[in-house]
Amino acid sequence: MKVLETSSQRQPFSPPGAGTRNLSPTHLPQDVTLRARRLAEFSNHQQVWECRHPASGLHAFIAVHDTTLGPALGGCRMWPYGSTDHALGDALRLSRGMTYKAALAGVALGGGKAVILGDPKTGKSERLFHAFGAMVEALGGLYITAEDVGTSVGDMDWIAETTAHVTGTSRNGGDPSPMTALGVYEGIRAAVKHRLGSTDLSEVTVAVQGLGHVGRALCQRLAADGANLIVADVDADAVKFAVDELGATATEADRIHAVAADVFAPCALGAVLDDETVPALRSAIVAGAANNQLAQDRHGQELHRRGILYAPDYVINAGGLISVAQAVAGEDASGTKAWSAVRRIGAVLSEIFDRAEAEGRSPGAIADRLAVERIAGHRRGAREAKR
Ligand code: NAD
Repeated sequence: MKVLETSSQRQPFSPPGAGTRNLSPTHLPQDVTLRARRLAEFSNHQQVWECRHPASGLHAFIAVHDTTLGPALGGCRMWPYGSTDHALGDALRLSRGMTYKAALAGVALGGGKAVILGDPKTGKSERLFHAFGAMVEALGGLYITAEDVGTSVGDMDWIAETTAHVTGTSRNGGDPSPMTALGVYEGIRAAVKHRLGSTDLSEVTVAVQGLGHVGRALCQRLAADGANLIVADVDADAVKFAVDELGATATEADRIHAVAADVFAPCALGAVLDDETVPALRSAIVAGAANNQLAQDRHGQELHRRGILYAPDYVINAGGLISVAQAVAGEDASGTKAWSAVRRIGAVLSEIFDRAEAEGRSPGAIADRLAVERIAGHRRGAREAKR
C-alpha cells in the first residue's frame, strides 16, 4: 500500500511543553494515561492527557492511540458528556478507530482524538479554543487536531491562533465532504462488482439515508451513473433537492433501511445497524459514509451470517482523512494526488472482500487484521532499519 508522507513525519516532533504561552504552568496538560487504563475502552494507548483551564472554561482530554505511522490525527469533539469517564472513554474509543482508519487509508498518520466537555450550542468562546490550541501545542506535534461533531471550521481558525498542529481551517483543508463522497462512491462500485458482478450502476438501486454534505454529493455521483436512488432525510428541503434534481424516490426516514434495494448507504447517524434494523434489511450490500454504523461489533458478524456484504465504515469513509493528510503534508487537499489516493479506496475494499470470502470471515474482521498487520510491519521495518 502506498503511503503518503506528511510534513510532520519528515520532521521529528518538537518536545512536549513547547509553545505553551497561552497556558500558565499550573494548567499544562496532565498525563492521565494511568487513569485511562482503568476504562474498558483503553487499548494500549500510547498516552492520554487532560487539561483543565478554569479561566476559559476548558476541560478536555486528548488520547493518542498510536503514532507508529506518523503523528496522531483526529477530530476535536465538543459534547455535553454526562461524566468525565464517559468523555475519556469516548476519546479512547475514537482514537483507536483513527489508528485503524489511517492505517488502511495508506496515510502516514497515527490515531488520536480530542474531546472537550461542554455544550457546543452555549459553551463556545474564542478563549476556550485558544486554550485548547495551547494544549495541542504543548504536545509538540504528536497530535494534530481537526473538526468533528460539535466543532466547526471557525473553531479550527481560533485554534490555529495558538497552535500550528491543526487542519481543516478555512485556509487549510476546508470541507473534506466531497472527497469522502468520492471514496464512498468508489467503495459502492467495488461492493457492487464483488457482490453483484456488475460494473454498471444504471442497473443498481441505492437507498441513501441522510442527504447532508456527504449524502448529497454521493447521490449526485450515483445519479450521474444512472443509478436508481431511494432517499430519506429528516430535512424536507434536502429530500426535495434529490427528488427534483436527481430523480430520486423519497421514503420515510425511519424505514429507509428496510426498502428493497441493492445497496443501503447509511450517510446520517452512527449505530444504525442494530438488533432491530439488521433483520429488516432487504439489500445485498451495506456501504455508506456514516461513522460507527454497527451498534456493536456483533452486528457485523450478523450481517456476514445473513450474507449481506458490509463495507467497513472506517475504510469506505476515509476519503476525507486522505484529503486532510494531503493538507497536513502541505499539498492541495483536493488536488490530483488526493483524488487518485481517494479512488484507491475501491481497490482496498476489493482486497478486503476477496480475503473475507476466501477465509469465510466478515470484512470488518479482515479490515481490523490488515490494519494491525500494517502497523506491525512498519514497526518491524523501523527496527530493522536501526540495526
Ligand atoms: P451532515 O450533518 O452534513 O448530514 C447528515 C444528514 O443526515 C443531514 O442532512 C441530516 O438532516 C440527516 N439526518 C439526521 N438524522 C437523520 C435520520 N434519522 N434519518 C435520515 N437522515 C437523517 O453530515 P455529513 O458530513 O454529510 O456526514 C454524514 C455521516 O458521515 C456522519 O455520520 C459523519 O460522521 C460521517 N462522515 C463524514 C465525513 C465528512 O467528510 N463529512 C467523513 C467521514 C465520515
